[in-house]
Amino acid sequence: QPGIVFDNVVFGYESERMILKGLSFEVPAGHSVALVGPSGAGKSTIARLLFRFYDPLSGRILIDGQDIRDVTQASLRAAIGIVPQDSVLFNDTIGYNIAYGRNGAGLEDVASAARGAALMGLIDRLPQGFDTEVGERGLKLSGGEKQRVAIARTLVKNPPILMLDEATSALDTRTERDILATLRQVSAHRTTLSIAHRLSTIADADTILVLSEGRLVESGSHQGLLKID
Ligand code: ADP
Ligand code: ADP
Repeated sequence: QPGIVFDNVVFGYESERMILKGLSFEVPAGHSVALVGPSGAGKSTIARLLFRFYDPLSGRILIDGQDIRDVTQASLRAAIGIVPQDSVLFNDTIGYNIAYGRNGAGLEDVASAARGAALMGLIDRLPQGFDTEVGERGLKLSGGEKQRVAIARTLVKNPPILMLDEATSALDTRTERDILATLRQVSAHRTTLSIAHRLSTIADADTILVLSEGRLVESGSHQGLLKID
């Protein structure tokens, strides 16, 4: 099980304005860490650095003790499964959409992806069957159902690291609670980095880090942080 380390990471899109000003934190292997902070704090930037859309100007990012600059793009993508806020679905069946998470998925993969998703409790929470066409961009599904398909699609790849990027931020409170319960099950014992601007979204994390203006200003448990307020 790999952990993630940000070691004194400095980064800015423009040389005059640093977004991350020496950011250090760790997601220990098998643990769940959440980053919270106001809009513009640099949360998405951290996700982009983790996927090497950009590299730090100084400092290092390690996965499983290895500098990610020494890792191939393919193994980086295999190691990290991402659940974004707004998942794009194909105009096809729920099964195909889930199995697409595997390269070159065939019919047999679609069937086994469906079994996997059902075992995780993702599929039977959808009102319609596995063979249902989702419509372009999942138009026939509700926001919550769409996220279940997106989560299942990420999990069939069995990535050792899970990155939740505002994964439930677009959902209403009740649907969010429901999906967070599912995520709690599927992310147990998996290295999980979650970023969100709402504290309710990340209440399940072992550790919560509060990011402001490129630095960590607080860290603690959800309960502990609520006491500060
Ligand atoms: P968050 O996800 O916490 O809302 P971001 O990481 O998206 O924050 O953005 C942090 C800062 O970086 C913001 O001030 C934003 O305007 C700036 N920023 C984001 N992307 C770019 C970019 N591609 N070029 C220049 N500035 C950017
Ligand atoms: P696959 O892993 O099958 O190629 P994914 O849907 O997992 O397809 O996305 C491929 C890669 O695109 C991810 O591993 C990640 O590097 C990047 N990616 C996808 N969505 C996002 C996102 N919302 N934010 C940052 N990176 C993303």
